[in-house]
Amino acid sequence: MEERLARLRVVLVGTTHPGNIGSAARAMKAMGVTDLVLVAPEKFPHADATALASGADDLLANARVVADLADALSDCVWVVGTSARLRTHSVPVLGPDVAANQALGHADEGPVAVVFGREHSGLTNTDLDHCNAFVQVPTVPDFSSLNLAGSVQVMTYALRMAALAGAPVPTTVAAAAQERDPPATQAEMEGLFAHFEQALTTIDVLDPENPRNLMRRLRHLYQRAELSSSEVRMLRGILTHTERGR
Ligand code: SAH
Repeated sequence: MEERLARLRVVLVGTTHPGNIGSAARAMKAMGVTDLVLVAPEKFPHADATALASGADDLLANARVVADLADALSDCVWVVGTSARLRTHSVPVLGPDVAANQALGHADEGPVAVVFGREHSGLTNTDLDHCNAFVQVPTVPDFSSLNLAGSVQVMTYALRMAALAGAPVPTTVAAAAQERDPPATQAEMEGLFAHFEQALTTIDVLDPENPRNLMRRLRHLYQRAELSSSEVRMLRGILTHTERGR
């Protein structure tokens, strides 16, 4: 059980208060989730982080600090973004229990990340574009926002409960085929999206001056599809021929 939890990563994006990083580390350690990645934190390392970690200093010492979210996720096979309010409806919004079950199932295929946003503004739409699914803790509608470390506690608790219950392996087509065809990593997905953008620009489907929402909608479509590595290669092969015009 502990090995499954060890494959889960908590990613905190743009945290303002170092105390919240410490509290999040403490919340994680108690639930057996230990991989912490910080994307451009405002202040870290910091005495407030160490103080509030109260004994979870090892998680802080091992925390990886990266410049942007894509770096935190490049090796991940599944990513779930957390939000108090969800603005998009094109990717599934899950409750914590369902999200935790799916996360553990995917963790059998490779690293899985749960992404948390900034204290004041949460995750941007661009951050959410990296996610395969979204999770919302079902708070009351007129006071929906939890403290950052509080939401890390809720999610890591849900992950531990799912691990204790022996979360099943996922039933998606990609997962069923994974022995022969592993799931695409986020780095492969980013390569696909960059290729789409280039090919669609070449064939004048995408106007860089007026991109509308095309790339965002394509990202959501393909993130939801949980592509395998070979499916990404197939799509890129088609894009290469599309660019050449034959
Ligand atoms: N005003 C911000 C709130 C950010 S709270 C907003 O509306 O998005 C900081 C972070 O805690 C969020 O980015 C999210 O990761 C997490 N969080 C807070 N409340 C949550 C909830 N009800 N469900 C899931 N995550 C939540």
